[in-house]
Amino acid sequence: MPNMEKNVVQEDLVIHDAVVVTVDDRGRIYESGTVVVRDGEIREVRSSEPGDADIAADRMVDGEGRLVLPGLVNAHAHLEGTALSGAFSELDAMELFAYMTPFVAGMAEEYDDLLEAGYELAALTFLQGGITAVNTMDVRPALGADILGEAGVRAVMGPMISDLFWDRSVDEQFEQARSFIESYDGAYDGRIRAAVCPHDDWSCTREAWERTADLADDYPDLPVHTHLLELDESDRMARANGAEDSLALLEEVGLLDERLVGAHFRVADDDDVTRMAAADAGVAHCPSIFGYYNLDPETP
Ligand SMILES: [Zn+2]
Repeated sequence: MPNMEKNVVQEDLVIHDAVVVTVDDRGRIYESGTVVVRDGEIREVRSSEPGDADIAADRMVDGEGRLVLPGLVNAHAHLEGTALSGAFSELDAMELFAYMTPFVAGMAEEYDDLLEAGYELAALTFLQGGITAVNTMDVRPALGADILGEAGVRAVMGPMISDLFWDRSVDEQFEQARSFIESYDGAYDGRIRAAVCPHDDWSCTREAWERTADLADDYPDLPVHTHLLELDESDRMARANGAEDSLALLEEVGLLDERLVGAHFRVADDDDVTRMAAADAGVAHCPSIFGYYNLDPETP
């Protein structure tokens, strides 16, 4: 017997009579808007109509006096260290690096519980605070991919690669990067994406950059995430690597393009800004970190 019951569509979630801010191509804002979610997808975003409060839905939210907006994006993070937030805040930059570097090296093999707790805390605080997507570079992202995936967070993740930052076999680091990409890229309905993550432009030799570029060539759909022009040492290291400056080095190895997300860009000049824009590369400036540690101790 066919099901003869009246076919009433049951929505997952309806929010009505809220201020709804979209990021559609016209940047529309509904002063009184309705959002309808069915089968886990947003099906309607429109002005509220009389009767919206009576739509059959598993969950109904009266949005009167509330604001609905797309999830916020954390464009640069190291989530496995979340449990340690604040622990090093009284150190200046060089002290921070000096204390953190051996600790970070230890993260490669130890501290599983601490790192997992960091991912769990990050997922919780993100979702409570409206952040639904994150771009994170970590020592062992495989410990966090399932935690973020199961929590419902959208994440771009990758293990950081450097041949000078720490004493780890470079071959192992590239193997780990490849294995992470193969295991997790596209997991959780595509919410977990892998990235190629050379750590920065001051602790990678030209050889590491070239190997990174080869890895990025093998996976042309993945973004490339690095710290870029964060420190005065950035351009100096690029010159030691035989390039005019940091962006020239990236251009020479073939990584200065639209796939690049450069974190901080703190010591960039106007010329660097122009070159990044011309390459269609992205910057995650993240100024709030410099309230956490002071890179210019003589500047209060
Ligand atoms: Zn960072």
